[in-house]
Amino acid sequence: MSDFPAGMVWLVGAGPGDPDLLTRKAERLLQGASVVFYDALVGPGVLALAGSARLVPVGKRSGRHSKDQKTIDQLIVAAALAGERVVRLKGGDPSIFGRATEEMTACRDAGVPVAVCPGITAASAAAASLGASLTLRGLARKLTLVTAHARAGEVLDLDWAALADPQATLAIYMGKAAAREVSQGLIAAGLAIDTPVAMVENASLPDERIFRTRLDLLPLAARTALGDGPALLLIGAAMGQGGAVAAAAPALAAAH
Ligand code: SAH
Repeated sequence: MSDFPAGMVWLVGAGPGDPDLLTRKAERLLQGASVVFYDALVGPGVLALAGSARLVPVGKRSGRHSKDQKTIDQLIVAAALAGERVVRLKGGDPSIFGRATEEMTACRDAGVPVAVCPGITAASAAAASLGASLTLRGLARKLTLVTAHARAGEVLDLDWAALADPQATLAIYMGKAAAREVSQGLIAAGLAIDTPVAMVENASLPDERIFRTRLDLLPLAARTALGDGPALLLIGAAMGQGGAVAAAAPALAAAH
């Protein structure tokens, strides 16, 4: 494969979970790889496309044991220097909360060629599942992707005033544990308490769950309505619009 010589690393976006949401390029790279280092969020359906490659799990689910970033950097560089065709497979899009820069820098520092194959990010998959649009003329002119993950022992430090924009959609990654702070922070900064909120867990996967609520009820909903799968919080007026969303689901009720 001319774009995947021995000794090269590809950071590949695995998409949100459904193997059908992989790009054709990602599938081709997976089939050409000799080793695949994959994140915990990458499911078996995607890994099954990896041809004869050796599959190496490298973590990363918050709260569970996983390799630290430095170790992962070293693993992929060492494999490439040993002449492997390396795929580093990441959930969603590698450039969105995916530590892609660290891994690319480690490769470049070692003289290892590295390239990125983009993927469908969780926010896109969640919007599709909701039948909603992340942007909406007149209601959401801006889409903000933000992570609400605080390092262990640190408080969440977000610019609530900047985030509390009634003309924006907020897509909050890794936000389940911080739902209370998100709700309180946005309301204190002036966002209306009845701003529509959608939570999508395991977007695109068979065990996907969707919950709709409003900003002031978000902490309760996040605590009681979600399981332990990856979940995205979508907040903003646009989340109260559109096909499936228009069904006036009562707060906290599961859409399906
Ligand atoms: N690079 C990834 C994001 C990695 S951060 C992307 O582009 O999607 C991990 C967070 O992404 C999770 O905590 C969750 O908030 C979100 N996420 C990833 N996959 C998801 C899925 N299938 N459904 C809902 N949220 C998901």
